[in-house]
Amino acid sequence: MKETVVMSIKIKNGRIITATDDYIADIFVDGETIKAIGKDLPIDADSTIDASGKLVFPGGIDPHVHLDMPFMGTFSSDTHETGTRAALFGGTTTVIDFVLQKQGHSLKEALAEWKSRATGTAAGDYSFHMAVTDFNDNTKAEIQEMVENEGITSFKTFMAYKGALMIDDSQMIGLMQEVKKQGGLVTVHATNGDVIDFLVAKHKREGKLSPLYHYLSQPEVTEAEASGRFSDMADYTDCPGYIVHMTCEGALNAVRNATRRNQKVFVETCIQYLLLDASLYEAGGSLDFEGAKWVMSPPLRQKKDQQTLWAGINQGLVQVVATDHCPFMWAQKLMGKDDFSKIPNGHPAIENRMELLFSEGVGKGKITLNKYVEVACTNAAKIFGMFPRKGTLAVGSDADIVIFDPNEKHTLSAKTHHMNVDYSGYEGWEVTGKVKTVLLRGNVVIDANKCLVEKGNGQFIKRNKVSGKI
Ligand SMILES: [Zn+2]
Repeated sequence: MKETVVMSIKIKNGRIITATDDYIADIFVDGETIKAIGKDLPIDADSTIDASGKLVFPGGIDPHVHLDMPFMGTFSSDTHETGTRAALFGGTTTVIDFVLQKQGHSLKEALAEWKSRATGTAAGDYSFHMAVTDFNDNTKAEIQEMVENEGITSFKTFMAYKGALMIDDSQMIGLMQEVKKQGGLVTVHATNGDVIDFLVAKHKREGKLSPLYHYLSQPEVTEAEASGRFSDMADYTDCPGYIVHMTCEGALNAVRNATRRNQKVFVETCIQYLLLDASLYEAGGSLDFEGAKWVMSPPLRQKKDQQTLWAGINQGLVQVVATDHCPFMWAQKLMGKDDFSKIPNGHPAIENRMELLFSEGVGKGKITLNKYVEVACTNAAKIFGMFPRKGTLAVGSDADIVIFDPNEKHTLSAKTHHMNVDYSGYEGWEVTGKVKTVLLRGNVVIDANKCLVEKGNGQFIKRNKVSGKI
């Protein structure tokens, strides 16, 4: 039998940063994994990368992306190929995408549909969350199969979007009990759908149709109330819980209260909620359509909420910074030109997350280097059952490695990004720090601003059962 040629690589003299460590050493990679880490390693490799003066991080993990997602007869504009490739350019080597069950159909059908789009196309590694939009006896019977056979251990729920995605509280309790039994985790879009529907209808009746009213239809209380309710249900069922894309002080305080009864609820925020605020919805006046670029749910909030979220990261209440990457071309956004409720929700960030968080977080003294790795890489791997294969630099871990120049300045722009979307949420932003070289399972996939792998290079990552503790 012919032996496959495996190239070994030595990364020399980099400053290695994990969630807990910070030291200068060499990393020896052979095959798909890290084989040794040490000072002046006396091992010859097929090739050597000099990382002197550079930071060396574990590959980033973005556990909240929507690639090739069907929406109102169209699809989010990044496919699994273009989205994961853009992620690699930005130092994110693994993403978790969402499979959406259709109400009245099985989880299995939905998974088959998503596999048909992702298999053989992704350039970077990926996994799936399963969104349960119709919990009944048939769905209940499928949970075990998802966990045991498919390696899908996280189940997404929506407390909003009635008639399409939302489940009610009785379904939520039933799902939590089953997921707890099978060793999984329930994640949630925590906003009060009924209150939002009421406000959307009111604004439309009054002829208030610009993107600003998307924001005004989802006030802070809608998120705070649902976050508290979800935490209560997770406590009652003892099911591990995770709130996606948290944006505001009221919602974080609901989780803070839950911790007072010794409950743990994981919290994810997204890079845009740390950096952008609601003034963008009316930067050009209350009728301005530019704000459609930031029409997402929940919407951007206020400056005080950004402060709360940064503090929450340092307080250990916010564990993950993701993106909720869900790009739409400007022509798609224009579907809602005359009615904010028809604007496809979502914003592109999969490529920018690691560099923006470094520049604005570490560079501006808001978080430490170790905290950066923790919230951008490690915690997502732990919470979602991929650690220590992913999320750290250790002997035996996948050689997913980012070599990063902390001093190089560059400007973000739709002209230079690799996401398949014709605008940037961060056009003209100056960032300090740049991804130089990226390894995925031992292969150099990004170097000198070039992607060196084709579509299909990415692997589906089966995940382990989880405990709700990290
Ligand atoms: Zn999302």
